[in-house]
Amino acid sequence: MLKIAKIVTEVSLNQEFDYEIPEDLVSKLKIGSQVEIPFNNRNVKGFVVGFSDFSDYRENLKSILGVVGSKPLIPKSVIDLAYWISDYYCSSIESSIKTLLPSVIRRRNFNHKKQLGATLLTNSIIGISELQNKIVDYLKNNGPTLVSELQKEIGCSISPINTLAKKKIISLKELNIRRNPFLNSDLVPTTPLKLTDEQENALIKIKENLDKLDSSVTLLHGVTGSGKTEVYLQSIDYIIKKNQGAIVLVPEIALTPQTVNRFRARFGEIVAVLHSSLSEGERHDEWHRVFNGNAKIVVGARSALFAPIENLGLIILDEEHEPTYKQDESPRYNARDVAVIRGKIEKCAVLLGSATPSLESINNVRLGKYDLVKMLKRVDFKKMPVVRTIDMEREIEKTGQPGLFSRELIDAIYERLNKKEQVILFLNRRGFSSSVMCNQCGYINECSSCSVTKHYHKVFNKFICHVCGEEEDFPKHCPSGKCENPSFKFSGSGTEKIEEVLMKLCPSANIVRMDSDSMRKKDSYEKIFNNFRKGKIDILVGTQMIAKGLDFPNVTLVGVLNADLSLYIPDFRAGERTLQLLTQVSGRAGRGEMPGEVLIQTYTPNHPAIEASKKFNSEEFINQDMKFRKEMNYPPFSHIVLVTFAGPDENIVLNCINDFYNELNQIIPKSVKILKPVPSSMHKIRGMFRYQILLSCKFTAKITKPIKYVLENAKFPKNIKIVVDVDAVSLS
Ligand code: ADP
Ligand code: ZN
Repeated sequence: MLKIAKIVTEVSLNQEFDYEIPEDLVSKLKIGSQVEIPFNNRNVKGFVVGFSDFSDYRENLKSILGVVGSKPLIPKSVIDLAYWISDYYCSSIESSIKTLLPSVIRRRNFNHKKQLGATLLTNSIIGISELQNKIVDYLKNNGPTLVSELQKEIGCSISPINTLAKKKIISLKELNIRRNPFLNSDLVPTTPLKLTDEQENALIKIKENLDKLDSSVTLLHGVTGSGKTEVYLQSIDYIIKKNQGAIVLVPEIALTPQTVNRFRARFGEIVAVLHSSLSEGERHDEWHRVFNGNAKIVVGARSALFAPIENLGLIILDEEHEPTYKQDESPRYNARDVAVIRGKIEKCAVLLGSATPSLESINNVRLGKYDLVKMLKRVDFKKMPVVRTIDMEREIEKTGQPGLFSRELIDAIYERLNKKEQVILFLNRRGFSSSVMCNQCGYINECSSCSVTKHYHKVFNKFICHVCGEEEDFPKHCPSGKCENPSFKFSGSGTEKIEEVLMKLCPSANIVRMDSDSMRKKDSYEKIFNNFRKGKIDILVGTQMIAKGLDFPNVTLVGVLNADLSLYIPDFRAGERTLQLLTQVSGRAGRGEMPGEVLIQTYTPNHPAIEASKKFNSEEFINQDMKFRKEMNYPPFSHIVLVTFAGPDENIVLNCINDFYNELNQIIPKSVKILKPVPSSMHKIRGMFRYQILLSCKFTAKITKPIKYVLENAKFPKNIKIVVDVDAVSLS
């Protein structure tokens, strides 16, 4: 009999600990069970990750104190996933296991909300009043019911209920009541739509994979408005009928309530939603609905990937190219790649959807690892919007000065306002201006702890650092301390500036700005979405927040104010990102009966990414970008690992990273390309100086194994923070 359990605790030591299993717990412990154990003179929680009948520490073993529940909180398959994550992403096993569960579940500091409820005890009932009979009938039909609800439904006082309890016909005891995040949102149930030919073909291919007993990955490449969600819904329907469950991941779920509602409207109560803007109680209850099998479909953000769905049949990732699928703290996993691994472990199908798939996924199709299905047309013969670029260089030649709005864009806006159609204007920069300079001495207000300029936010009348959040009141005169000049030059316009100029251009229009500044309240999104749908808003100005998932038929014009913003960041993915962003924003236009138009203002109309966004056909751009990546040996032709050292003393950081580099360089295989340490492009964040090393190789382990070896054997000062980012999506 196995006497020893291997346990991972929350104390960060990257280690498993052996504990003795007391007799009475032997049958209760399983892999994934949460246990309580003595640890350094206190009791801590941990998870069982394995069993053994042998331990090196046999003599000194302590015993497990208790176990939570009879069913493990984490399925074994998900524990396996945590080990894969730790190994691949160089993270400690504790940090991986920690991400598997919402903290309200892990810490057990929340419970079900309870209220008195009535349960029917017997079916042989005689000699009761008519009113009591009504109550019994209700319980027969509806099962255990809260007393308060029963009173409301029957329209009675508490006394007939108490009488029934005294007669032992019903029992009164505390029942769990669900903290329902959707209590106040009524949805009209939907039924499956008749599919278009393209959707039908896609579904046939996906069903083939759903019928396989082994794992599979399908990439659904469908233009915006091609009806990908309906394909997701019918795929899920198919596996639900096979008694399986599904996980649906969407990026930035708070921005896409429409998407979530489409799942709830189709499948009702068996949908659970998991994301960060739920209250702790709601999250607790939603998670438990999954855990006890009441919910078979989870819709959520990145971490919903680990939901304990039993008999998992399908994992869907919508907008698979989104960088938000990468977690930016340890473990730095990419949910897209981990979804594929969970699919392998559970032998289930994975469906990746996007209008602009990542080059990684396209390459996997080309290598024969993923299946591809395409949907090139919009549903119902709706046309893709007409996209035109406006060369802002020429605009300057014409008007003599750089303006925010080209004549063409202004005219197009006026035309829509006259026709009572709606406009979306996109600029990926919040605030009023990104840089403010003293007119006299040239002083620029930089953040005191980061190597960036502070942005000016006119609505708050403050300078704000977009990296660390440091705020400062806008000064009456130059803040250099050397000059008294009260006037400034503002450059790098943001959404606030657009809004201000627009109000002058169209004084009678109803203009609303949507960015993380105007969205600070919890229900702001829903409010704006609803007002926009009802036509109460003429023009919506916003950052990439407005690019996602919006499906408003009356939007006929989308304007992009400065398409070049994302193009000139020092990152080999800049072109790909720009195309993805422009395609997503453009996709908001012309989703109804009226055709849509998209105007893109740019200084580089001939850039391949911008050209590609005009055609809704990225093939040419992808081929070109693939060629470039291949020449440079960038992903998808290699894996990259970014190692960053950060610390308060620049010299010490530099010394440490140089030492690290020298040691690593001696043992790293020849097939790994390693670049010398350089300052990060964000050289200073929150007072920490940052240096980085970029490594690339076809095989990740060839990079990570030597890194782990050096880090385990080296001693760096405590205040040096070392980050190993495998398959980094941001190089700053
Ligand atoms: P995508 O996610 O590909 O951008 P959506 O799934 O949002 O596209 O679909 C666009 C619109 O088309 C939605 O309003 C959706 O309800 C509608 N739609 C999808 N499939 C069908 C269909 N087969 N018949 C009619 N309308 C459909
Ligand atoms: Zn800062």
